[in-house]
Amino acid sequence: MIEENVRKLLEEIPEKNQFGEKVTLVAAVKTRSAEEINRAIAAGITDIGDNHAQEFREKYDAICGNPTRHFIGHLQTNKIKYLLGKTDLYQSIDRYALAEELSAKSERAGIISNILLQINIGDEESKGGFSLGEAEEAYSRIKSLPALKIVGLMAMLPETDDDGLLRSLAREMRALYDRLRAIDENFKHLSMGMSGDWRLCVECGSNMIRLGTAIFGPRNYDLK
Ligand SMILES: *Cc1c(COP(=O)(O)O)cnc(C)c1O
Repeated sequence: MIEENVRKLLEEIPEKNQFGEKVTLVAAVKTRSAEEINRAIAAGITDIGDNHAQEFREKYDAICGNPTRHFIGHLQTNKIKYLLGKTDLYQSIDRYALAEELSAKSERAGIISNILLQINIGDEESKGGFSLGEAEEAYSRIKSLPALKIVGLMAMLPETDDDGLLRSLAREMRALYDRLRAIDENFKHLSMGMSGDWRLCVECGSNMIRLGTAIFGPRNYDLK
């Protein structure tokens, strides 16, 4: 099942988007066992993304094949210590306090941490992230922190069947990404797209998608 899903996805996901950028598939592994994650990796998954620092920590040593590690969930500052130096890309930098603390801890550890700024493109109460309106100011302020490298943006589109709305939001994200990429050569990831909307997101210029259900099937939070 997992193997078949990965095979089909790797076949279907275009190698490059309309901008000629490689499209990276990140497996969203929340609630999945190390065994399931290892099966996905054996089937061709190269990047995995965790939502919970605790889960990341518990499963870390049981994951085979040395995948690229992403953190994609809401991160409390007191949990940074579990991820520091083990996370290749922090995708969910959604507030100043988190950026400042991650920079301070990275600096003390003598490392630079790669981050994406999370943008709340749908202006949803339930989601973290900087608003579209404050994104450029957030970029400038966080850019000045010494031990972070901003390499792009992350967004989650709202849950709606309105394809027109989703497309216009996805295009606004791409436009913001292009404005910042024009002034920052480190920009290379626009992470946008989950199991339900990844095709639309890639069509609108995403170059990194985060899929859980499409790889592993429905989540069962009780069995975690
Ligand atoms: C869970 C999660 C995903 C994957 O969601 P699916 O709908 O299962 O593909 C992607 N991004 C984030 C931030 C998530 O928390």
